[in-house]
Amino acid sequence: MSTLRFQALQEASTRKPVHFEEIDRKSNIFGSNVFNEKAMKQFLTSDALKGVRDAIQHGTKIDRKLADYIAMGMKEWALSKGVTHYTHWFQPLTGTTAEKHDAFFETSYDGSDPVEKFGGAQLVQQEPDASSFPNGGIRNTFEARGYTAWDPTSPAFIYGTTLCIPTVFIAYTGEALDNKIPLLRALSAMDEAATEVCKYFDKNVKKVTATLGWEQEYFLIDKALANSRPDLMMTGRTLLGHTSAKGQQLDDHYFGSIPTRALTYMRDLEQECMLLGIPVKTRHNEVAPNQFELAPIFEETNLAVDHNSLLMDVMQRVAERHDFKVLFHEKPFKGVNGSGKHNNWSLATDTGVNLLSPSKTPMSNLQFLTFFINTIKAVNDYETLLRASIATASNDHRLGANEAPPAIISVFIGAQLSKVLLELESVTTGKLSPEEKTDLKLNVVGKIPDVLLDNTDRNRTSPFAFTGNKFEFRAVGSNANCSNAMTTLNAIVAKQLKDFKIEVDGLIESKDMKKDDAIFNVLREYIKQSKKILFEGDGYSDAWEKEAAKRGLSNFKTTPEAIKAKVSKQALELFDELGILNHVEAEARYEIELEEYTKKIQIEGRVLGDIARNHVIPTAIRYQNTLIENVKGLKEIFGKEFETIAKEQIVLIKEISGHIEGINSKVLAMTSERRTANQLTDAQKMAEAYCNKVKPYFEDIRNHCDKLELLVDDESWTLTKYRELLFTK
Ligand code: ADP
Ligand code: MG
Repeated sequence: MSTLRFQALQEASTRKPVHFEEIDRKSNIFGSNVFNEKAMKQFLTSDALKGVRDAIQHGTKIDRKLADYIAMGMKEWALSKGVTHYTHWFQPLTGTTAEKHDAFFETSYDGSDPVEKFGGAQLVQQEPDASSFPNGGIRNTFEARGYTAWDPTSPAFIYGTTLCIPTVFIAYTGEALDNKIPLLRALSAMDEAATEVCKYFDKNVKKVTATLGWEQEYFLIDKALANSRPDLMMTGRTLLGHTSAKGQQLDDHYFGSIPTRALTYMRDLEQECMLLGIPVKTRHNEVAPNQFELAPIFEETNLAVDHNSLLMDVMQRVAERHDFKVLFHEKPFKGVNGSGKHNNWSLATDTGVNLLSPSKTPMSNLQFLTFFINTIKAVNDYETLLRASIATASNDHRLGANEAPPAIISVFIGAQLSKVLLELESVTTGKLSPEEKTDLKLNVVGKIPDVLLDNTDRNRTSPFAFTGNKFEFRAVGSNANCSNAMTTLNAIVAKQLKDFKIEVDGLIESKDMKKDDAIFNVLREYIKQSKKILFEGDGYSDAWEKEAAKRGLSNFKTTPEAIKAKVSKQALELFDELGILNHVEAEARYEIELEEYTKKIQIEGRVLGDIARNHVIPTAIRYQNTLIENVKGLKEIFGKEFETIAKEQIVLIKEISGHIEGINSKVLAMTSERRTANQLTDAQKMAEAYCNKVKPYFEDIRNHCDKLELLVDDESWTLTKYRELLFTK
């Protein structure tokens, strides 16, 4: 019998790298499918161009008439590139992207006057059939429809033959229904708060931009092999499968050269990225077999988030051409490394300064310290919210389970900066003496760039690490839309900077202090208040778990526990104060995430139950029957003596029966827990039931199946094995 497994293996073993040629050097094609400055200059009138620029730089509104002119230019540009359709491209709360294509083509009802049309109205606003996107009850209660609205800060681009217009997605009642709106609001809060603080140091700063450089990890698996696994197809991860004898222990993949098929895929992908203006820069193998990473040059956060969402889509489409499937799941395989998406984050001024980069003069280093310490304080005060921002069913496999990084949020800053903070902590209360100030400026603050030069002690186990000129939020999941993490991080730091400004101004006014005295005083207090979040040691150790508990840091290993922080009083007030999410929006998002969690576990439970009973048990029984036949035959030949001769077979027969019984009883028990959980009406309680009552059966069922995989004849095993999935190149 030829099972899907053997057909797939056959197919995969005959693959050759798909032919691919670069069309031109990267710098020549970069952004050529993007309606960027260059294209706008060519296709827009000067008024229209100015309108878009003002909207990007200052958030100025674009009126309908101007929108008509912009649309006209955009259409001409698109038509010149063979485009036939346009779509509003947006990021609903499903975590992926959505689009509905409309043709430019129009004609009157009798077929006369065929023409390509696209006006301001179509550019600015659309009404997707919104009822099927998650909304956490917002639209059920108020209004059944929502609309998408153009986000001019992220340029339109062409993918295939479609003009894609980045948009936000809003309910008619005004609530945000997507990932982009809260992000834009958080970035604007950050701009406002950080610009005010910058003015202490440089009056010329008019705008502060949060920057993001993500590092996307993924697995690349032969399409036929991936498709032969129902669990991978339905859930994005393997729910069973015995670890292969060889895994990642030799590190030979990490240090090896990129396999040819994968490399050809990457080159093709990079070319697509260049056309789309996604500035990808680095590619390399990761720790696990068939695991890779891709990283771009960092960009303004909103654009970087859009680019990552777009990239994930493009990666899957290009993979089709190369007969691959991309796995973005955080833990597709048990026993080998999972995937993350490090979010490198910093702040840049319109005067060209990286606020998290130490520089030459003591005053600008005081600015660096201000932003550095405020970030630490923000993470300290909002660690539970930051943890909540990266909580998903799939990321729980990393954060909760001895895998990079732990579920405890902490900040790593390195030995040198730890020392600097220690010295700053002893700054005199009140006005500083001239000697102390000189000493601080020359010997502490002034020395930072020098000490940082040899700041090489990087800690790979930290979820939030300072890496010289940026913070690296490493706990973000590979499958996540970065906006959740970025909205939260920028929100908490914005709030912190706002409070900082109030405190410093307060000291200057009431205590008649000099500006830098006041800044030193406030920073000193922040250092004292943020001690619990700083950790330089091994984040995976048990000792740290104990120590973190003593310090009062949270350690939520599962999503239902972690995301409660999203609707805590502290979080609701924060989002409300900064105008990022009102209570209705925040509650709705929390509900959606709970529902999504429940659905994910529910699907995994069903798929696992099905595979265990439809694949594993029948295969085991067939093999057991072979053994039984064998024992019967031996008895016929050897008579009484067979008991010794067939001893091993009899043990095997019994063992197989034991596992079959184990699977059956556990699947039934799991199904019954699922039914009970489904009766619950409270979304939090239902998610908890799925997490604590249903999910624990997964491991049990899996263990029985994986034992059977080892016992059963390889020829008759129907499911593609780990060694085949991981080591086929
Ligand atoms: P790693 O050693 O973790 O692989 P890299 O040094 O290669 O990290 O850089 C990772 C990412 O950091 C890149 O995507 C890069 O663009 C980004 N990055 C560098 N500087 C900044 C910055 N100022 N703001 C945001 N991201 C940045
Ligand atoms: Mg990194």
